[in-house]
Amino acid sequence: MLVFLPAFIIFSKQKTEYDTIIRHAMVCDGSGNKPLITDIGIIADTIAFIGDLKGTAAKNEIDANGLTLAPGFIDTHSHHAGGLFQHRDFLAAVSQGITTIIIGQDGESNFPLATFFQQLSDTPVAVNIGSYSGHNTIRDSVLGKDFKRYATQDEIEKMKSMLRQDMQSGAFGLSTGLEYDPGIYSSPDEVLQLAKEVAPYGGRYMSHIRSEDRYFWKAIDEIVNVGKAAQIPVQVSHIKLAMHNLWGKSDSLLTLLDKARKNGINITSDIYPYAFWHSTIRVLFPDRNFSDEKEAEMILKEITLPDDIILSRYEIQPEYEGKSLATIAGLEKKTPARMLTELIARIEKFEKENKRSCDEGILATSMNETDIKKLMSWSEANICSDGSAFGGHPRGYGAFTKVLGHYAREEKVFPLQEAVHKMTGLSAEHMAIKRRGLIKKGYYADLVLFDAAKVSDQATVREPQKISEGIRIVWVNGEQVFKNGKPTGIYPGSIIKRNNK
Ligand SMILES: [Zn+2]
Repeated sequence: MLVFLPAFIIFSKQKTEYDTIIRHAMVCDGSGNKPLITDIGIIADTIAFIGDLKGTAAKNEIDANGLTLAPGFIDTHSHHAGGLFQHRDFLAAVSQGITTIIIGQDGESNFPLATFFQQLSDTPVAVNIGSYSGHNTIRDSVLGKDFKRYATQDEIEKMKSMLRQDMQSGAFGLSTGLEYDPGIYSSPDEVLQLAKEVAPYGGRYMSHIRSEDRYFWKAIDEIVNVGKAAQIPVQVSHIKLAMHNLWGKSDSLLTLLDKARKNGINITSDIYPYAFWHSTIRVLFPDRNFSDEKEAEMILKEITLPDDIILSRYEIQPEYEGKSLATIAGLEKKTPARMLTELIARIEKFEKENKRSCDEGILATSMNETDIKKLMSWSEANICSDGSAFGGHPRGYGAFTKVLGHYAREEKVFPLQEAVHKMTGLSAEHMAIKRRGLIKKGYYADLVLFDAAKVSDQATVREPQKISEGIRIVWVNGEQVFKNGKPTGIYPGSIIKRNNK
């Protein structure tokens, strides 16, 4: 049946009741196109009109006065959801303009996802959340303590069934953290079998690859092969060249990835804008030979220098937190290599005695600026934070604003619209998120209003929780979640599932 609408409903925007109008905004729409000054009309959670709204009234009216309006940023590799019900306002994320986070990263997720999604729908938070299903989580529940080996086919079948359960609940796909326990002990075949399992669902593969230093090229081969053999989109998490002898190889890496793409493999990456990472101290030893001083010497020469490792958490001796390995070695009158092995020996002893894992972490500088800029500029690299709400790395609060302020405005690595595209439209494409990532009629009103001339990260290693400057107002699904430097206490975040609409 054809329905003829009266002409005034179609043509008269004056008759429309907007909930919010944002006037005179420099709209940077997320597509990479040049920004344009215009007005935006929002009805409920949706962008209803883009264009001249002079003479039209709304319940909430904001004069942007030329400030930049972008789609809310999508963080494709986030750890911000740790302890989320204690910080429902997600200050760390929204204060840098993030409105959607994708969790379940590095192989770690909430299992079963259905339970987590139920809790989230009972107690919503300020941002939208989507999740992968984590290989380490699943492997841990199947293999338990006996994980330092390949899984049997029987065990792989059990993992597959858990993965299918999560896929049916809306997981984006499989995530791995192959530098971490227990995933590091998996065979490439185990990973491939699991990746193939998500293909019929239209799932994807996201990986903290098996090595970001010593065995880097082999690890890249592995993820390329997953994309090829499972025929699913694959994404390299927080892409980096984290070893001195890999520095300067970003061109060869990108050539290799582009070649794979030409051959039909949908490989992409995300990246955070820092030359130092944050992880467990034990990740330095992929062969888990923690007492090998020769290995420790190699690490301190090739991967990170004694001055460039800072203990962010060390619950055994909290007085060492914030100090470099060089300083600690000096205090104990030991060589840095010996000190490194001893710090880990103390952790292992602590864990044995207390039968629980030790709270420890390091910040380590392993990357170089030229590579970061090149990798960040790759047409298939979107921005992520890898950050958490209470972590010791400033990326938790400053990753996106650092890209906008430092890399785009100051270093001119790319124009503002390109930076925004890498945080929005491109990220939505990489995650197959629909109706987000662009300022477009009919899209969800996830928006960030910021001062492009002033936006900058403020978080540092000393003050990792310092909020950014220049982010003025952030909307999630049409509602303000952050304004004037503070969360609003409104929780309009949605759960984003695979094949979302
Ligand atoms: Zn990771």
